[in-house]
Amino acid sequence: MTKPNMNYAFLKDSYLFYNISKKVAAHLDSHPCAKLLRLGIGDVSLPLCGAVINALHEAVEDQAKKETFHGYMPEAGASFLREAIASHYAKRGVALSPDEVFVSSGASDELGDILDLFDSSNSVLITEPAYPAYVDANIIAGRKIVRLPTFEENSFLPEPEDAATADIIYLCSPNNPTGAALDRKRLKTWVDFANETDSVILFDAAYEAFIEDEDVPHSIFEIDGARECAIEICSLSKTAGFTGTRLGYTLIPKELSRRGMRFNYMWVRNRTTKTNGVSYIIQKGGAAVFTEEGQRQIKENISVYKENAKALMSALDKAGVPYCGGRNAPYVWLKCPDGMGSWEFFDFLLNEAEIVGTPGAGFGQSGEGYFRFSTFGDAEETAAAADKIVKIFAH
Ligand code: PLP
Repeated sequence: MTKPNMNYAFLKDSYLFYNISKKVAAHLDSHPCAKLLRLGIGDVSLPLCGAVINALHEAVEDQAKKETFHGYMPEAGASFLREAIASHYAKRGVALSPDEVFVSSGASDELGDILDLFDSSNSVLITEPAYPAYVDANIIAGRKIVRLPTFEENSFLPEPEDAATADIIYLCSPNNPTGAALDRKRLKTWVDFANETDSVILFDAAYEAFIEDEDVPHSIFEIDGARECAIEICSLSKTAGFTGTRLGYTLIPKELSRRGMRFNYMWVRNRTTKTNGVSYIIQKGGAAVFTEEGQRQIKENISVYKENAKALMSALDKAGVPYCGGRNAPYVWLKCPDGMGSWEFFDFLLNEAEIVGTPGAGFGQSGEGYFRFSTFGDAEETAAAADKIVKIFAH
């Protein structure tokens, strides 16, 4: 008889976004004229930039002609895109060879798939609050999870602890949901820890494009020793509005090996077995992001989200509500006022101000009592929400 993967039975139902949509629907039922201000979404609201759209159109035309038509693409990515990404990192002082760049359909896919490289007996360290997929993907794979909570007192920045060691370490910087970003010194401490304990860091850099501070690295490979202990997972979703277009990339240095097995070669083998690559059209669109014009245009979009962050941060300053994030990340993470719990604050904001955010408790236990505002929403809605926040909380 077929034996299913019984680990699925250990997954908790994902109530977070289901509960949010249920509460929002109930509110709209009883207040049909309500104009909700949505600061809960983790999706972008601005369209793809012109450089990407032009490249996509051209790529569609290529597919219409026999001479320029592309069938299956190389499993690990088209060389034009792998080279464009490697040159982009070279400009930042990070030397990567194009065959250390693997093109993917996005970070979510990779965060799950990359676990194929590791034995299921490995333990996994997850710093919390955390993007929920880290926990769930490892529960499905049957791994032991070690949780390392972060707190307001340490600015939600995780530090390695001898008591919390594991074979695989997830780091997300800038962080979803807290917006906290590891500076060079802190990241170096993690790299040294991973090398000392022979563990591998899975570095989620989905929000690197939002970094403003010089001292915050965009890539873990800016840190000495990282080539021996890290894999970096990147996405064009938030960087360039590819959430619905789907494109990402993963960086695996050739030096990275454990027990004589090289992860870069293993991933080539994995990709050639499990995928037939990302579509030519989408990769062409992605390559446009790394052109001078593409970089200029994506920064224009990011600056709109940054203005949203400024409006929210200024409102919270005026209201005297403590928060972190917003500066190097598209999320503002605040302490629920008056000792309210995350869901209590969700209801309060919805009922009193018709603002929808995300309760921190959905990102792990240490998120209880906190709340996430996303800055990806519409600028006018965000400004209106900021005004309401000042009015509700200013004492
Ligand atoms: N990693 C983090 C921390 C995220 O917040 C997200 C999406 O919200 C992802 C990865 C997934 O990104 P993608 O759209 O590339 O799958």
